[in-house]
Amino acid sequence: MESHSSLSSSSSSSPPSSLSSESCCVKVAVNVRPLIGDEVTQGCRECVSVSPVTPQVQMGTHPFTFDHVYGSNGSPSSLMFEECVAPLVDGLFHGYNATVLAYGQTGSGKTYTMGTGIKDGTKNGLIPQVMSALFNKIDSVKHQMGFQLHVSFIEILKEEVLDLLDSSVPFNRLANGTPGKVVLSKSPVQIRESPNGVITLSGATEVPIATKEEMASCLEQGSLTRATGSTNMNNESSRSHAIFTITLEQMRKISSISVVKDTVDEDMGEEYCCAKLHLVDLAGSERAKRTGSGGVRLKEGIHINRGLLALGNVISALGDEKRRKEGAHVPYRDSKLTRLLQDSLGGNSKTVMIACISPADINAEETLNTLKYANRARNIQNKPVANKDLICSEMQKMRQELQYLQATLCARGATSSEEVQVMREKIMKLESANEELSRELHIYRSKRVTLDYCNIDAQEDGVIFSKDDGLKRGFESMDSDYEMSEATSDIGAAEEWEHALRQNSMGKELNELSKRLEEKESEMRVCGIGTETIRQHFEKKMMELEKEKRTVQDERDMLLAEVEELAASSDRQAQVARDNHAHKLKALETQILNLKKKQENQVEVLKQKQKSEDAAKRLKTEIQCIKAQKVQLQQKMKQEAEQFRQWKASQEKELLQLKKEGRKTEHERLKLEALNRRQKMVLQRKTEEAAMATKRLKELLEARKSSPHDISVIANGQPPSRQTNEKSLRKWLDNELEVMAKVHQVRFQYEKQIQVCVFKNLFQSCLLSANFFLINKPL
Ligand code: ADP
Ligand code: MG
Repeated sequence: MESHSSLSSSSSSSPPSSLSSESCCVKVAVNVRPLIGDEVTQGCRECVSVSPVTPQVQMGTHPFTFDHVYGSNGSPSSLMFEECVAPLVDGLFHGYNATVLAYGQTGSGKTYTMGTGIKDGTKNGLIPQVMSALFNKIDSVKHQMGFQLHVSFIEILKEEVLDLLDSSVPFNRLANGTPGKVVLSKSPVQIRESPNGVITLSGATEVPIATKEEMASCLEQGSLTRATGSTNMNNESSRSHAIFTITLEQMRKISSISVVKDTVDEDMGEEYCCAKLHLVDLAGSERAKRTGSGGVRLKEGIHINRGLLALGNVISALGDEKRRKEGAHVPYRDSKLTRLLQDSLGGNSKTVMIACISPADINAEETLNTLKYANRARNIQNKPVANKDLICSEMQKMRQELQYLQATLCARGATSSEEVQVMREKIMKLESANEELSRELHIYRSKRVTLDYCNIDAQEDGVIFSKDDGLKRGFESMDSDYEMSEATSDIGAAEEWEHALRQNSMGKELNELSKRLEEKESEMRVCGIGTETIRQHFEKKMMELEKEKRTVQDERDMLLAEVEELAASSDRQAQVARDNHAHKLKALETQILNLKKKQENQVEVLKQKQKSEDAAKRLKTEIQCIKAQKVQLQQKMKQEAEQFRQWKASQEKELLQLKKEGRKTEHERLKLEALNRRQKMVLQRKTEEAAMATKRLKELLEARKSSPHDISVIANGQPPSRQTNEKSLRKWLDNELEVMAKVHQVRFQYEKQIQVCVFKNLFQSCLLSANFFLINKPL
């Protein structure tokens, strides 16, 4: 049977996340073979010492530590399989790929260790032990599950991949000893890389295996076909890399709990699991010059070195932690060997390297190189993944993801409506608090104005404007005007403060809304991405299933046609073939049924997905609602700010007006004061003049009282003349009249002035009351 054989069942670049993936280092064991034939006859000495306690090999003064050391003073080689390879065989049954690499110079015992030799291969080597362990395990669990085994055996010779199990390749390769001129009757094996990074071998024979003997015969056949050429170092050692691959496929019935329906889902069918074990016998690692051969042999040596050089570079790139962290390029593509072993080194495989060394001092240089090389390989980190059936496990993964998403969506839905409710309540509370505060502020403001008035009154109680009550009241009202403009500015500050508070609280709310919106949007994005990916994935899966179904149906139709054809012929062979076909047909029918079931299942999952999409839509509507709220709030804030700005501008304008009027009134007041002062002075002067006149009048009156006496004196002595008396009386009367007229004039003037003052004061008080009314006018 020939098919595309895949060297790795799952790509290392995109391992399914739900499958168990662990990081583990490449394990390295050293196998020190004993001194053999030539070395003993040449009298070689051992140049390596092995610690019996720790897995260490010492060359000179340099100790090398490994995971295991076998041979010499180390553990017996018989433990190698149990300690290094048996866990890998176990891992195969859990779906883990594995690789065993034998590395070392020619003649160091690689072929002996692996068991790929024709001489002693079937007895001691690791591959024969792998076969025994594999079939023992299969025997013990075959009642639980179905198994399919395949083997392939290829070699890489001069950068060409050759199929060692191809029966059409002539066996005389070994006999004529010209492996460089192998004639293949068909095209050589091609290395292909699928888009998802899986390396496949196109054209390699994959032999289905039922028994251990069949597998052993494949190993034997391949080993015989393997190119070997004689060199100075080892007559039979191969200069090619040989890869013996065992593919183990398992089918086990699984019933899983459906996370969507919460019921036991029998539709999950069988769990398919596929893993590969590569057993690699590398070519000699020594340098070309040491093979001592020219021509064709040297050319082969160079090719060998190209593969091993690339392997060394890959190991260096992967083994250096710094380079690995920097994401340095790993040169897998530099050789066929490294391309084929891509997953075994730093990829999806559990890998063991067995470094084979010769203890002989003549090989010291190569032994040291091998130890250094192997030591570096210990740093390679692999990422083995259990290769479970992708459809089954991904279905499960998708279901889990879907359930998770649904749960999250539900939770989010609940949270969002709850949160909106909470926010509404908060807004209501804030609004009522705001109202309450505004009311209080209003009360405090009016109280403050009253208090200010009281203060003004109290302060001005001591101010003396004693002369006139009217004047005093006038000045008081003028002063209180100034105080009031101060009070107005206080009111303005309070108003500003209130505005700042309002803006602040609204800003906070806006921030809160923006934050919530951002959260919702990111949730939505996550949801969107998740659902979109799921949708695409399921659509792809549906298409794949449909395709598979169609292929199987086609196959069935073909078989039906063949059966019909065979029904026509009656010989016995045809009968047998017909039976076979009928059998196959039945199997195909069940396969179709299974596929249909799977498809139905997918449809169900798609429906569930639709539901989650609806929930996502709801979330979207909520986001829009929040956005609208946000816009509203922003508009409100803007409006409020605009209103405040307008109010402030009008206040400032009024204030300016008032100040102007205040200045005018002050000017008037000063003018009035000056006038008042002048009038006072006039009044004083007039009063003084009046006093003088009164005095004079009194004197005159006194003089008149005394005049009859004078007249009698004059009459008794020397009587005054009649003209003299009349003259003095007229003079006195004139004086009297003049004084009376002046007094009258002064009084008239004084009263006029008082009237003017009173009128002006009244006018000012009116003006001030009008201003006061303007300031307190509501906005
Ligand atoms: P390689 O494949 O590395 O070139 P081989 O496996 O062909 O080396 O071994 C070279 C020779 O050494 C063979 O004759 C083999 O029998 C012998 N040899 C290798 N390992 C051992 C061992 N552990 N015990 C005894 N003989 C060994
Ligand atoms: Mg060999």
